[in-house]
Amino acid sequence: MKAMGPIPPEFVVPGHERLQLGGTDFAEVVGDEPTPVFAYDRSVIRRRVEQFRAAMPREVALHYAVKANPYGPLLAELSGLVDGFDLASLGELRQVQAALATGAAPEGSHLPLSFAGPGKLDEELAAGLESRITFQVESEGEFERVVRLAAGREQGRGGRPRLAVRVNPPFGLKGSGMKMGGLASQFGVDHEAVPGLVRRIVEAGAEWRGLHVYAGSQSLSAEAVSEMQRATVALAGEIAAEVGLSPPEVNLGGGFGIPYFPGDKPLDIEAVGAALKETLAARPAILRDTKFVIELGRWLVGEGGVYLTRVIDRKVSRGKTFLVVDGGLHHMLAASGNFGQLLRRNYPVAVAHRRGAEAEEEVTVVGCLCTPLDLLGDEVMLPRAEVGDFIAIFCAGAYGRTASPEAFLSQGAAREVLV
Ligand SMILES: *Cc1c(COP(=O)(O)O)cnc(C)c1O
Repeated sequence: MKAMGPIPPEFVVPGHERLQLGGTDFAEVVGDEPTPVFAYDRSVIRRRVEQFRAAMPREVALHYAVKANPYGPLLAELSGLVDGFDLASLGELRQVQAALATGAAPEGSHLPLSFAGPGKLDEELAAGLESRITFQVESEGEFERVVRLAAGREQGRGGRPRLAVRVNPPFGLKGSGMKMGGLASQFGVDHEAVPGLVRRIVEAGAEWRGLHVYAGSQSLSAEAVSEMQRATVALAGEIAAEVGLSPPEVNLGGGFGIPYFPGDKPLDIEAVGAALKETLAARPAILRDTKFVIELGRWLVGEGGVYLTRVIDRKVSRGKTFLVVDGGLHHMLAASGNFGQLLRRNYPVAVAHRRGAEAEEEVTVVGCLCTPLDLLGDEVMLPRAEVGDFIAIFCAGAYGRTASPEAFLSQGAAREVLV
């Protein structure tokens, strides 16, 4: 038997043995439509936003990193809850624009947009200039390209380019799943070169929007996140002092993790908020009027998503029971352990109609792809499931469908619903 990660608390509803999504029985959510399906529970996402607002200093803005999940109805929902969207491609810009145009997002149409990413195409820069979004400039070369493109546009169209500098900091987020910073990096401009680039931005007549530091992701340590935020504020103060200008905005990055695996404990967001209050109260005078932003992906939407896949076969091989499901790593790569994990561990998994029942047998849940990599639950203890029953894989709201090789084995896409 191997352990699995914790089921997010919102789905462990006392008195309900069957899995509920947004107060509705999962079977109603699935309906008669094809499976598998990603179901995103808006009440969980709303709850995370409320938790963030309650814990963080009031002046800190919350942005959503669209990369985590660009599903249109989810973006429309979030547009009424967050203070901005962070984009990483023209495709994401189009998704956000489409979501805001549906009318489901009346308050969202004025949200600030920013665009980070090391390989922005000319086409992306041009579209971003047109939409007046802020670019997180990642290199000198990119700065030169965006200024050239802006100069080549029709006179008077769109105004000055809005440029922030993404900084490659001399530190990383300790213990984060994916360490960035403190090293050579394709992301951002080495911190010692940032003051020079800011001067060039100002001299070129562009609007300097500030600084962006993204030092890591998936941290469950309040101490590590707080230390990164302190270091970021200090670094921003030093850069500002060297340039002699106050940055209008400093994006502190994110890095807030969620529990996926056995033994993982939720990030103590109150502790992060309390430490950030102190950090901001003690900030250098040159940052007095600076607006601070935190950008989050998985922490906002990861735990609200459940991947529901139907059992299509039960088989025993040499004493081991396998549940074969109609989904797999082509939809939910991360649950198979192949999304950058060093070690394969089990995501939280349940039998949907018996979520609250006693576990009674050890099973290995495998996807339908013809590869041994397609393993969704390895030797987990579950209540008995028969052919036709649904397996729920939790923590599927971020880096699920769009972070998986959907075309692999030509099995087709999963459905998505917001409930
Ligand atoms: C991926 C990314 C995020 C979101 O990361 P999460 O771990 O999902 O919160 C935020 N900012 C930048 C710059 C990113 O590249």
